[in-house]
Parts: sequence; structure tokens; C-alpha cells
Amino acid sequence: MSQSFDIAIVGGGLSGGLAALALASKGFRCAVIDAGDPAKMRDAAFDGRTTAISYASARVFRRLGLWDQIAPHAEPIRDILVTDGRAKSRFDQGTVSSFHLHFDSRELGDDQPLGWIVENRVLRNVLFDAIATKSDIALFAPAKRNAAKFQSGSAVVTLEDEREIRATLVVAADGRMSSLRAEANIKTNHWRYAQTGIVATVAHERPHEGVAQEFFLPGGPFAILPMTENRSSLVWTEKSDAALAYMALDENKFRIEIENRFGDYLGAVTPTGPRWSYPLAFTLAQSYVAPRLALIGDAAHAIHPIAGQGFNLGVKDIAALADVLGDGRDVGLDIGALTVLQNYQQWRRFDSAALALGTDLLNRLFSNDIAPLRIARDIGMGAVNAVTPLRKFFMRQAGADVGALPSLMAREN
Ligand SMILES: Cc1cc2nc3c(=O)[nH]c(=O)nc-3n(C[C@H](O)[C@H](O)[C@H](O)COP(=O)(O)OP(=O)(O)OC[C@H]3O[C@@H](n4cnc5c(N)ncnc54)[C@H](O)[C@@H]3O)c2cc1C
Repeated sequence: MSQSFDIAIVGGGLSGGLAALALASKGFRCAVIDAGDPAKMRDAAFDGRTTAISYASARVFRRLGLWDQIAPHAEPIRDILVTDGRAKSRFDQGTVSSFHLHFDSRELGDDQPLGWIVENRVLRNVLFDAIATKSDIALFAPAKRNAAKFQSGSAVVTLEDEREIRATLVVAADGRMSSLRAEANIKTNHWRYAQTGIVATVAHERPHEGVAQEFFLPGGPFAILPMTENRSSLVWTEKSDAALAYMALDENKFRIEIENRFGDYLGAVTPTGPRWSYPLAFTLAQSYVAPRLALIGDAAHAIHPIAGQGFNLGVKDIAALADVLGDGRDVGLDIGALTVLQNYQQWRRFDSAALALGTDLLNRLFSNDIAPLRIARDIGMGAVNAVTPLRKFFMRQAGADVGALPSLMAREN
């Protein structure tokens, strides 16, 4: 059995789901294919992470009519505090450097937060709910993609159960281990970090006031991200062997380890629910396109979570791809042709490579206890903190509100 679409999107994660809605908004008929069972992907146990949605990415959700469903579950980030230090332990009282960086959303002057913290569970549910209402999007899930053939007029994607999906273009949203990317012989720059991200949610006594904290410790950054209902999401990056041990601790010992890093500024802290761990790696595709194939999201670039930018990069990919394909179609071009797809690559590859490498450098600079580096980075933080235009520059970078913005991301008047 064969069905035909304009675009077949392989991967129905955050990137694939959002891409289907963005491309459908430009009038493309889309198939979304995911190996996972949507009922399981919607479940709280599937993904315990939160995502820091930048204010420019939020415009995309708003323009696609999704933000009203997300907003009640989105905690605005009013301030970001970045400090350097050491955790408390039997041998160390714990230190916090007197140099720090304070990003204050009010300095940008348009009464908008620096971003929002949203649970991935909420984002997945909103995307699946919206897809279910669109007659021009067909969801094939659970359905693993087995093969893809790229021919002169169209591509054919074959599912595990032998169903065939014919499309003018295939979008690879199949994650950092993208098999479509590998089969297209697109090489990557790839390395593993000797770090794992531990993710947990905590409740606390005092209000977080919308402040996100990033505390740089020798094992990696320890981020405390404000959530709704006065909870916080922890993204605790640790050396992988230590992370394994922390993951195995009983509830009380885990709480003590959190408190040793967290300090007492939010009063008593109580972990709520399970913990998750994510081995961290860097993967950057050397090309984002091949004939009838475009890579988006983690399939194109999977980066360190130190700056909370991975999915935000994907959102910009999606918005840019929607513009490029819409423009190509409107002048009668074949949307699967390299001449069209290269416009997408030109728009996105340099931008995401620069940010990916920047986050890598940041992690290398901060995740250590080497005295000269510690001094240099503390002086650097103090210097940036003292200069208002520099602080504003970094806030706009973090908000993804820089460079040529696709129409779904353009500033609202
Ligand atoms: C600890 C941590 C914290 C993070 N925090 C942030 C943050 O605050 N802000 C931010 O912007 N980013 C953050 N990120 C990054 C963000 O989570 C990822 O960039 C994002 O989830 C990637 O989504 P994706 O849809 O591209 O890929 P994935 O989530 O990997 O989805 C790929 C999908 O493809 C499907 N698939 C794969 N192969 C096949 C096949 N053969 N057939 C059918 N389906 C297939 C899979 O089932 C899966 O559903 C964080 C990452 C980590 C690890």
C-alpha cells in the first residue's frame, strides 16, 4: 500500500512534531512517522526533562496557535544568575565565587521574560493534540522507518510493516543517531562528553521568583530552572562514573547531594518523582541536505545542554525550512531539489555550528577545577557583568533573537 504526501517527516519528537505543524501551516501535506507509541510518548514517565523555550522560539508556537495551551504550564524566566564554585562535601565547605553574571530580563525593556521553562511532557502533548486536529497531517506511529529511496521525482519511505510513503521531500527528524543521515552518507563531527546529565524535579520551601541559576561546578554545570507550582527542574551535569553512583542513591542521600550543590536559598528541597539520566555527546552533521532530504533538530546538531539551546536551534531550523520550501513552491520549483534545499543549509548551518561549538567551548572552560582557568573565567564573568551592552548582547543570543529571523519567528509589533 502506498500513500502520497508533499513531505514525509521521519521522527515525531519535539522537532518532527513541530515541523509537521509549521510545514502544514504553509500548505504542505505531511506524513509524520515515529517508531514510538504516541500513548507512551505522551506519558510523564517517557521524558522527565524541561525545555527552556527562548522568547524567539515562543513566537513560533504562538503563530502556530499552540501557545495558549502551553502558557498555563510555562514558567517565565525573569533573571538568570551564573556563578562559579565548588559543591559542599566532607572535605570542602563549598565555595561560591564572588564574580557572577546576572541577566535581568527587565533590561531588555519590553516587559518580556528571557524565556519559559516548560515540561517536555507538556510540549509533546500539545504537539500530538494539534496534529490530531489537522486533516493535512497523517501520523504513522508506532511505525519504524525501514528504508528510504531517493529518486529523480520523489522519495519513497518504507515502514517496517512494508507500507510505503511517497513524498517530494523527506525531513530527517530522527534524532542525534539519525539513520537517515547515515544512509545518505552525511558525515558528522562527533564526540562523547565524559559527562551525564541527571534530571530531576524538586519542590522547595521558598518561591523561586522566576530566577534560573547556573552554578558551574568542576564536574559540570548544575542548573536550577524555575517551573510552575513553585517547583524547579535540575539539570545536573556530572562526570559519567559519578553520575551513575548518584543515580543509584536512595532518596535521602540523593536529597543531601542536591542540597550540597543547591545551597539553602530556596529553603528545604524535596525531590518529587523519578530521576532521569542522559549521556551527553556532540554531533554536528557536515551537511544538512542531500537530494530530497533535509536534516532538522538533533539529526542536524545535538549539543551540550549547558545553555539550554538544543531544541531552540531546531525550532529555528523548522521555521527557516518552512520559509525556504514555501518560497520554492510559490515560484514553481521542486522542493526536493538541491537548489532549493541549499538555501536552507546556507541559512542554518553556520548559525547552528557556531552555537554548537560555543556551547562546547563553554563546557570545556567551566567544567574543571584548574586554578588559572578558574581565575580567567571569573574575571571574564565579572567583566561581562559590568558592561550593560554586553549583558544585553548575551540575553539576545540566549533569546535566539539574532540574525535573519524566519517569518514564523519574526518580531511581533
Ligand atoms: C539533559 C538535557 C536537557 C536539555 N534541555 C534543553 C533546553 O532547556 N532547551 C533546549 O532548547 N534544548 C534542550 N535540550 C535538547 C533537546 O532536548 C533536544 O534538542 C530535543 O529533544 C531534540 O528533539 P528531536 O525531535 O530533534 O530528537 P529526538 O527527541 O531524539 O526525536 C527523534 C524521534 O525520531 C524517532 N525515530 C528515530 N529513528 C526512527 C526510525 N527509524 N523510524 C521512525 N522513527 C524514528 C524516535 O522515536 C524519536 O521520537 C536538552 C537535552 C538534554 C539531554
